[in-house]
Amino acid sequence: MTDSQSNLTVLKFGGSTLGKATSAREALACVQRESKRGRVVVVVSALGDTTDRLLRAADLAARGERAAAASETEAIAALAQSTAALDAGDGSRPGVLDAATIEGLLAPLSALLEGVHLVRECSPRTRDVVLSYGERISSTIFSALLSGRDLESRPVDARHIIVSDDQHGDARVDLPATLTRIRQAAESWPTVPVVTGFLARTKDGRDTTLGRNGSDYTATLIAQALGAREVQIWTDVPGVLTADPKVVKDAKPIANLSYMEAIELARFGARMFHPRTMVPLIESGVPLRIRHMMDPAAAGTLVNASGADDETRASSLASLNRQALLHIEVRGQQLSENLAVRFQSTFDELDIPVWLGTLSAFGTSVSAVIPEQDVERARAGLEQAFRLELADGTLDRIRVTHPVAMVTLVAEAMGRTSGVLSKLTGALGSIGVSVLAMGQSASERSISCVVAESDCARAVQTAHAAFHWAHQEVDVFLLGPGTVGRELIDQIQQQQDFLRQEHDVNVRLVGLANSRSFVFEPEGLALERWHEILEEASQTPDLEPTGPVPFDQLEELGRRPLPVLVDCTAEDGMEAMYQAAFASGVHVVAANKKPLTLPLAGYKSLLGEARKRHRAYRYETTVGASLPVIETLRDLVRTGDQVRLVEGSFSGTLGYITDELSKGGELHTIVRRAQEQGFTEPQPQDDLSGLDAARKALILAREIGLALDLADVALEPLVPRAIIEKTSLEDFYAALESYAGEMKAKVAAAGERGEVLRYLARIDPAARERNEPMMTVGPVFVPPTNPAAHLKHAQSFVAFYTHRYRDFPLVVQGAGAGGAVTAAGVLADVLRVAGSLRD
Ligand code: ASP
Ligand code: MG
Repeated sequence: MTDSQSNLTVLKFGGSTLGKATSAREALACVQRESKRGRVVVVVSALGDTTDRLLRAADLAARGERAAAASETEAIAALAQSTAALDAGDGSRPGVLDAATIEGLLAPLSALLEGVHLVRECSPRTRDVVLSYGERISSTIFSALLSGRDLESRPVDARHIIVSDDQHGDARVDLPATLTRIRQAAESWPTVPVVTGFLARTKDGRDTTLGRNGSDYTATLIAQALGAREVQIWTDVPGVLTADPKVVKDAKPIANLSYMEAIELARFGARMFHPRTMVPLIESGVPLRIRHMMDPAAAGTLVNASGADDETRASSLASLNRQALLHIEVRGQQLSENLAVRFQSTFDELDIPVWLGTLSAFGTSVSAVIPEQDVERARAGLEQAFRLELADGTLDRIRVTHPVAMVTLVAEAMGRTSGVLSKLTGALGSIGVSVLAMGQSASERSISCVVAESDCARAVQTAHAAFHWAHQEVDVFLLGPGTVGRELIDQIQQQQDFLRQEHDVNVRLVGLANSRSFVFEPEGLALERWHEILEEASQTPDLEPTGPVPFDQLEELGRRPLPVLVDCTAEDGMEAMYQAAFASGVHVVAANKKPLTLPLAGYKSLLGEARKRHRAYRYETTVGASLPVIETLRDLVRTGDQVRLVEGSFSGTLGYITDELSKGGELHTIVRRAQEQGFTEPQPQDDLSGLDAARKALILAREIGLALDLADVALEPLVPRAIIEKTSLEDFYAALESYAGEMKAKVAAAGERGEVLRYLARIDPAARERNEPMMTVGPVFVPPTNPAAHLKHAQSFVAFYTHRYRDFPLVVQGAGAGGAVTAAGVLADVLRVAGSLRD
């Protein structure tokens, strides 16, 4: 290797780059730039879709459709002419090919197609000659354009340097002969040789091609022969991406891949390189870089021997749609002849590619993934091959599932770390995608899951997010933008950037509904305008008055990777909506207590549906707003502690009123003040009734596992029931005032004993044995030893007395009401749903 050679860069430009004026100009600029830095060799593919058109033209001509064939060649010529004229601002630049020259270049092609038309036959050999025109034209034009930019350039026809066998359309390269010829030819190359990619020739002079995308392979062969510093493939994408950008919006370029990972990806659907591109690189150790033509400063993807430093990360996901899964199974024992061998050879004989094959233990069942277009041929072939066994019942019928997709995770890390597979299947399971078949390569570098094609996009999106390549998109549909709901929207808006940056979670509000209207915007609503948006929607006349969210919107929501229905209403009957959500694959986060206090059968069916569908149903804020009450209790229960007593003050309003009473206030004045300050429900009777506290007690009792109903709560309102039953506010306050003296006296008497009035809920599982109610909710006078005695203002509080927390209860205490804390709790629940899928 000489010095100048190690300074050499092979630059390959693909058809899509050269076929568009803007990127073709960038390519020219790139060669100018790189040739200043050192030696370059340029390899080009055919312009734009020229290769496809040549294939069609050959087919059409062979079928006798002369005019249609001619229109293909005209389109090829038009693209060639416009590309050649790219730099011809004033028509006089030296080196620019004129129209006549290009016509001259294409004339033999037309003559050849004419011949094909005459004999109505295009052999693979002739087709390769037809195809060669694509690269020959592009190298001539590109080289002329470079000369026009004052570079010493010449087209180089690779048929003189790449030696192959005669497998037309997919020829194998004779490596020693090719390396020698490249080295010899390079001695007389100009500053910028422009080599035709894709083309080769047999030793005895027949033209061949290397297979689709073969120019990449040409480039790496040259790099190996000349000991290049690097091969750069310039293309119209930013590099090898972590997933198909059509499926995953925020797929991003992989910084570094190993050669073997790149090969794995090329196999499994990422149509990035010719499958043999890596061979010369592995031999020679020359690195390859994929770069974005329209963003030349970006690093792109580097493919080299070592791959990424971070071995714990998977590199990429590939997906292949429009496949079919065929499966046969032996009834009983093994067949005398090897089932797998016969199965596979059936496909071989039919020339049907098998992308993935599985063989169960003991060889009693086999399956194969093949292109969907071949499925009927394959089925017929198998029926024929196994006709005897199918007839005598030794084999079960052939089962065919299609369309299916193959989702492949490529991860160099797989062989070195554990947990990669479980993360993948866990992510798929969490969104209810079932894996129909699975295969892991022995290299442990890839794992493929076969899924229904309709699940493919969701599967790829979810797996992509699970491996932290991207933000986990969490799509929230909010019911009830009231006090809590609007606060939640504000918090989402505030936290969005932080969550994206620090936690890779992108929370979007995709839907919003109140009792009058709803909006659904799959791309996310503009958070600062939600009010107007909802207002506009309520003006839309043809709204279905069937409920806040039509069920088909739920279905659409359910196809998202992580959809969450958030209920911030206090409506009755929302359980129907939740059931539909679970059935559509949507998680539910609720601040609404009502569905949790349904009669037992309804409650169980709701929770059962969530479990059956593997959906989360979180409702931490239904008791004590965002205080960790439910999670704490759950942890006690699931770790086997025995809950002996739960005692809590769950109503902020009643907490405030009892605290003020203990300070010597007058009942009616306190309630009025509370109402004026917005601490109460619109009807303060609702607070004083204690029903809300009773609901919370029931929610907790059910968490403990007690089969109870709301009717089982021994509920005593703060004041006699007759007062609460007053419907008009005026009558209510009058009644309160007349009761105030009695209340005051009771509180004072208790004060003498050192006790204070509290409004408490109690759950005592052992009470049943004493024939007493297990749940009591009502006013109590507590001694100073009770933790509730020290509550101030509207604090919420709950004490868990358990077997383990016998002497000192586990106490949770703090602000337990208000829009801001409740919304924060709701948001935390939403994030927990997201977190459970990523950890
Ligand atoms: N022009 C050929 C093709 O389209 C070779 C290449 O692009 O690399 O497949
Ligand atoms: Mg290509």
